[in-house]
Amino acid sequence: MRCGRGRVVRASCWAMACQFELILWGRDRRYLEAVAREALDEVRRLDEQLSAHRVLSEVDQVNAAACRAPVKVSPQLFDLLAMCMRISADTDGAFDITTGPLVKAWGFFDRKPRVPPPDETAEALSRVGFRHLTLDETNLTVSFCVEGMEINLGAVGKGYAVDCVARYLREMGVPGALIHSGRSTSYALGTQPDGTPWRLGVAHPLDPSRRALTLAVSDRGVSNSGCTEQCLEADGRLYGHIIDPRTGWPAQGLLSAVALASTASESDALATAFFVLGEEGTRRYCSSHPGVSAVLLPRLSDGCDVEPVIIGDDICLAQEVET
Ligand code: AMP
Ligand code: MG
Repeated sequence: MRCGRGRVVRASCWAMACQFELILWGRDRRYLEAVAREALDEVRRLDEQLSAHRVLSEVDQVNAAACRAPVKVSPQLFDLLAMCMRISADTDGAFDITTGPLVKAWGFFDRKPRVPPPDETAEALSRVGFRHLTLDETNLTVSFCVEGMEINLGAVGKGYAVDCVARYLREMGVPGALIHSGRSTSYALGTQPDGTPWRLGVAHPLDPSRRALTLAVSDRGVSNSGCTEQCLEADGRLYGHIIDPRTGWPAQGLLSAVALASTASESDALATAFFVLGEEGTRRYCSSHPGVSAVLLPRLSDGCDVEPVIIGDDICLAQEVET
């Protein structure tokens, strides 16, 4: 396809349990296709390295051994873990990559959700807490202080892969691209071929075929966390797969939370955190972190449509809807 100042190339692959999609533009179609292929190969490599579901992934090896002795990890994984620890501390533990035992107790790891008995929740909670994880910057090691702890990068790994792709595309001189990991995290690199910001739709949480709103973005990560894709209905309540690690219960209050940040890793982690924190905590976080903004879609009473709560004055809503 020719478009404005160049050619537009699309490429996709299945990785990290979702469809990764790249839309990039530039002058030379063949060059863009080769760059896209290389970028998607990198996504597949990251999936093998970071997945807690894959036996012998780097994360699986950490989980198998880090409560016995410090485990040396790659500089890449170390930096990602350090960023996760910083976000956990800044969100009062709402974002926590050690939440795995709770995700398993609630059946979300195996995609067979159920309400666990209270003693099981309490036992899982005893093995959760980012403060029980130690990073040694000098030796690039990770250790767990509590038996049975584990890490799961499900709330940040897709964003990390999107950032790696964005960095590679920049290095290769690609002037503009949209990088999507499924429907949950995107990065808008540069602009569209006509020089205007990219348009990113935010799915309506109760009807993903509709858009709740459209954002105009450039050089930013945008992520969406919600409770309607993987969830369980019990006792008249909807329990989603995002757990509040402080209580051991699925977070309540929002239908979805969208975070915008300078990187997709950060927006991915923060969308999960904002979903747990709710409106007040998200406002507090955004007011002390310039460059981070949010759109929250609260649960409403029957019959009402969602009304987005916009937090941050740099959010640009687009009139036009991208197709
Ligand atoms: P996301 O869709 O990015 O919000 O990530 C949700 C996934 O992260 C879940 O399926 C769990 O595997 C994991 N998770 C659940 N709750 C949390 C939490 N509070 N902090 C970090 N990861 C979580
Ligand atoms: Mg996330």
